[in-house]
Formats: sequence, structure tokens, C-alpha cells
Amino acid sequence: MTIPAIFKLKNMTASQGGIQVLNVPSLDIESGKVTAVVGPNGSGKTTLLLCLAGLMEITRGSLLFNGVNISGTSKQATLRQHTTLVFHEPLLFNTTVQGNIEAGLQLRGLPKSERLQRISNTARLLGISHLLNRSAIKLSGGESQRTSIARAIAMQPDVLLLDEPFSALDAPSKTMLLNDLGHILAKTNTTAIFSTHDLTDAIYLADYIAVLNGGTLVQWGPTQEILQNPKDTFVSALVESAKTTAELVLKNTRFREDG
Ligand code: ADP
Repeated sequence: MTIPAIFKLKNMTASQGGIQVLNVPSLDIESGKVTAVVGPNGSGKTTLLLCLAGLMEITRGSLLFNGVNISGTSKQATLRQHTTLVFHEPLLFNTTVQGNIEAGLQLRGLPKSERLQRISNTARLLGISHLLNRSAIKLSGGESQRTSIARAIAMQPDVLLLDEPFSALDAPSKTMLLNDLGHILAKTNTTAIFSTHDLTDAIYLADYIAVLNGGTLVQWGPTQEILQNPKDTFVSALVESAKTTAELVLKNTRFREDG
């Protein structure tokens, strides 16, 4: 499949502790779309996101960002300027919610008026305007995750990376965040890549799905294609496990609104 891609990966591998834990034969990430990286624990999701965030060196193959081959630490720094990674356990500073969102903007040297504008916009998008003066370390799990996503979105990265953004949340908080994130990403046309062990999350939110099994990317493509044509028994079993949601989506009752 050929798509206009912001990321193009070909025969890319990466290692953890000297052992190869990730092998991506081929993956394209389309600009302005949402891609879900789906796989069980230990399948290489975080490793892939770290490579895309410029926080980990690839060992073989190629990783192209906007057509530029990212190899070597200087190129990785470029990648870090264009991406923001949100970790599944929110890492918030011991200051207010506003202070947390503002920190990265201050580091970038943005003037106060621009910082305040971005804080107000992203807080509204994430539904946390009423929390701006609250201490970030006293927030609930859902509020903390919303704050760390607001902080990332305020940076206006070319690519927003989210590592298991829903895994630490209770069911109601997860449903609400999934819903809100779907609307925000569609409205802002953000290129986003998130990882999850739950295909249902991917079906709700993603235009594209990439499936990892034991460190190898075994299939990727548009969400509907993955659901309709799983390539092997692993992907079939994954689709079967999310059958009810998959059936709804195949009947065109899509959760995510476009535009
Ligand atoms: P996932 O995000 O899907 O749970 P990871 O990318 O975190 O998977 O891990 C992929 C593999 O790399 C796993 O086998 C994991 O045990 C291993 N791994 C992760 N981090 C390290 C590390 N710092 N040192 C050695 N092995 C690691």
C-alpha cells in the first residue's frame, strides 16, 4: 500500500538491552490521521513509539520522517523537536495544571500571550479549564492523563505519540477520554499514533491499525481492512476478541466523526 506518509519504516529493527525486540518490515504513517499500534504486553509497542519519538536509536533498516532518514543522534534530535510522547503514567510536575501545560511552552521561548492562549485552548479542548489552578499532583487518574495530553497538544507537535493512554484509567474515565480524544484529533487534524493492548480502543479511534506480535509488526492498514482481512491467526483472534465493536464499525456506525 502506498500513502503520503509522514513516517516511512522499512525493515527497521530496534534493541533493548542488546537484544532485538522490534522488527518492522514495513509501516507508513499517514499525515493528519490516527494510527493505533496494537499488541499484547511485551510486543514492542513502547519500543516502536520511542523510536518514532527520537528517544531510541534504530539498529537496522530505515526510519524516514518527512522523507529524511533518521539515523544517528543528531537526526534523532530533529525528531524530538517535531514529536511529543505522552507516557501511560502521567509524569506531572509538582505545580499547578496551568504550570504543567506552560512548562514546555516556556522552554520553547514562546511569549506569555501565546502561552496563555494555547493553555486556554487546550484546557478547553480537554475539559480541564476548571482545574487550571489546581495542584497537578492531587488530580484523579483521568484528570492527570487529560493534563498530560493537554500539555502535549499545547506544544502543537507534528506528531502526537501516546503510549497506552487509557491503560491506567477506570472504565468511565477511559470511555470519556476516548470519546473526547476522538473529537479533538478529528477537529485538529492531528497526526497521532497511540499504542494499546485493546483492539476495541483502536477500532473506536484509529484510521489505521498496525498489529505487533512478539516484536514483529505482522499487519498494518486501514482499520476496516484489518477487521475484514486479518492476515494470520493472531490478527484473526484479535479481531474475534473485539467482535461486537468490529461488527458495529463494519456496519458503518463509526464512533469517530470526521471533519
Ligand atoms: P510493550 O510496550 O508492547 O509492552 P516494550 O516495547 O515495552 O513492549 O518491550 C518489548 C520487549 O523489550 C519486551 O520483551 C521487554 O521485556 C523488553 N524490554 C523493554 N525495555 C527493556 C530494557 N530496558 N531492557 C531490556 N529489555 C527491555
